Amino acid sequence: VVRLANVNKHYGPLHVLKDINLEVAKGEVVVVLGPSGSGKSTLCRAINRLETIDSGEIYIDGKKLPAEGKELARLRADVGMVFQSFNLFAHKSILDNVTLGPIKVKGLPKDEARKQALVLLERVGVANQKDKLPAQLSGGQQQRVAIARALAMAPKVMLFDEPTSALDPEMINEVLDTMITLAKEGMTMIVVTHEMGFARKAADRVVFMDAGQIVEQAAPETFFTNPRSDRARDFLSKLI
Ligand code: ATP
Ligand code: MG
Repeated sequence: VVRLANVNKHYGPLHVLKDINLEVAKGEVVVVLGPSGSGKSTLCRAINRLETIDSGEIYIDGKKLPAEGKELARLRADVGMVFQSFNLFAHKSILDNVTLGPIKVKGLPKDEARKQALVLLERVGVANQKDKLPAQLSGGQQQRVAIARALAMAPKVMLFDEPTSALDPEMINEVLDTMITLAKEGMTMIVVTHEMGFARKAADRVVFMDAGQIVEQAAPETFFTNPRSDRARDFLSKLI
């Protein structure tokens, strides 16, 4: 569903993505791990073109992501993204937050968008909050709304960039559980997280990045019990 071929990205003199080659198959859950500054967020942002790349190609469902234009907008709609900060529209109700994209971007009739949004909000367990404003919800609830909002666009792949990092500990699990359910339902997912429990439980593959490179990739059991590179061993030894 997603393929990156020899992707490079610089910020001035800083080479943040170094010849990245990565393929994520339909239904696969890939967890991206790595130290701070290794390029994980830049990778996610490149995949839905929030960030330009200097060279290489990115394919979504076999179609090359162009630099701009209508085709870019179309392909982007196939990529759902959930960030650390929930980025909900503060002055819109929960329901409106979820229906807005489908109505504006996909031209879905209001009734239909509303029906679909209620199903999604039910699925992430916050349907009873539909008429509230984001600020009236807990962080965990807001993040689940953000997931429902991304799903409303019927994406082919979901990107998560540290979706639980801004949450209080007691709310982390409700968001991770939602993500685990999504994974089980067969959603293709790329997840940047520091939650090793999630990686062990839900990942089909762990991708370890350091200094802009993919240093190693392996099944989670293999990666956690028997990392091949010194850099991965060093990273794992620093986790509590
Ligand atoms: P973290 O775990 O802290 O979120 P990360 O792996 O997501 O880190 P990135 O945010 O992708 O790392 O950043 C990779 C490198 O690029 C870092 O050295 C960072 O300082 C740099 N960087 C990120 N965004 C910019 C920017 N807009 N301009 C210049 N440098 C940037
Ligand atoms: Mg980051």
